[in-house]
Amino acid sequence: PVDLNVLADEYLRLAYHGLRAKDKTFNATLNTDFDPKLGTVQAISQDLGRVLLNLFTNAFYAVQKKKERCPEGYTPTVSVRTLHLPDGDVEVRVRDNGTGIPEAVQKKIFQPFFTTKPTGEGTGLGLSLSYDIITKGHNGTLTVETQEGEGTEFIITLPQTDGAE
Ligand code: ADP
Ligand code: MG
Repeated sequence: PVDLNVLADEYLRLAYHGLRAKDKTFNATLNTDFDPKLGTVQAISQDLGRVLLNLFTNAFYAVQKKKERCPEGYTPTVSVRTLHLPDGDVEVRVRDNGTGIPEAVQKKIFQPFFTTKPTGEGTGLGLSLSYDIITKGHNGTLTVETQEGEGTEFIITLPQTDGAE
């Protein structure tokens, strides 16, 4: 049983402080909204941790890129929200107000080795691996909503686990 509120909070801070250790000028506002009724899901926490870490790293990258383009009056923000859905499923939403993903790019992001990042900055494996971990490994779904220039939200949905609490 994994408590996604705890896992998400830990990995969000890990990703953020990891980035700041490398680049002292980087900063972002972190918003969290954790559903206290979330309960636990039956999961491999290391795998879900990898998924979250990749989503957070991507989100921080996207806000950093946007900041380079429009430094004035822009507050890089990454928000994480967990939700216990009425049908019992559990959702984790990772939202950023970064670059967004152009339409032509959207259909490729879950493909292995697809990256728009310069060599050395991305392997293009994060989302394809995340997709497999969530769908094949945990019987869940991983979807994206994005608007170019505005931001992106990745949504993980995991099935209810009986006797979770
Ligand atoms: P990598 O991070 O190594 O590039 P990923 O599989 O994690 O590989 O992501 C693939 C691509 O999807 C990224 O290169 C980027 O173009 C796009 N992407 C993923 N997450 C975001 C995001 N939050 N905002 C904008 N683009 C994103
Ligand atoms: Mg990535």
